[in-house]
Amino acid sequence: MDAATITAPAVLILLGPPGAGKGTQARMLEDKFGLVQLSTGDLLRGAVAAGTEAGKAAKAVMEAGDLVSDGIVTAILRDRMAETDCAKGVILDGFPRTTVQAEALDGLLASTDQKINAAISLEVDDTEMVTRISGRYTCAGCGEGYHDTYKQPAEDGKCDKCGHTEFTRRADDNAETVASRLSAYHAQTAPLIDYYQAQGVLKGIDAMGQIDDIARDLQALVGDIMD
Ligand SMILES: [Zn+2]
Repeated sequence: MDAATITAPAVLILLGPPGAGKGTQARMLEDKFGLVQLSTGDLLRGAVAAGTEAGKAAKAVMEAGDLVSDGIVTAILRDRMAETDCAKGVILDGFPRTTVQAEALDGLLASTDQKINAAISLEVDDTEMVTRISGRYTCAGCGEGYHDTYKQPAEDGKCDKCGHTEFTRRADDNAETVASRLSAYHAQTAPLIDYYQAQGVLKGIDAMGQIDDIARDLQALVGDIMD
């Protein structure tokens, strides 16, 4: 490899409310750019399983029924990012969750001459999101997905695929629950949005379109960063 092509691993933060397709988009970024998505839950489970120092500390805290401290999570993240599969870069999902954690992450990255390349926010229209999510239902026979507004069976109350007449809805997909999940997300994320906006690394992606269109915009953005 030419020395000029060796660059520090990219550090991307992916922000997006439940239902915005964050997981799907992160997997596509992994495939296209060789990035590794790191979620807090996976990091903790991995470190505990691997029995690293930080993993042992996390295990003891969790067994005592306490929340793992930012310091331990940051140490686990540092260990994980040093592994060879993260050489191209990482997509952080669910961390940082607070500005205190964001500052800890900046400190961690500064110690290895790294920085956050972008905090990418998947932007949604809350009213439209409530309609989309709360309208979903599924055929109880074959699992085919339907929607009150966007995809009704051709014959009312009868599955197009298998003819079944019973349908199910996820209890937590009702409009009120979805709206409150969204407002909780915005309340929690607003300080982080401000934090990364102030650093000049915040990038917004319109996440209300088709999955492929969102993917195209996101991959163009990440492609520029990875160049
Ligand atoms: Zn069916």
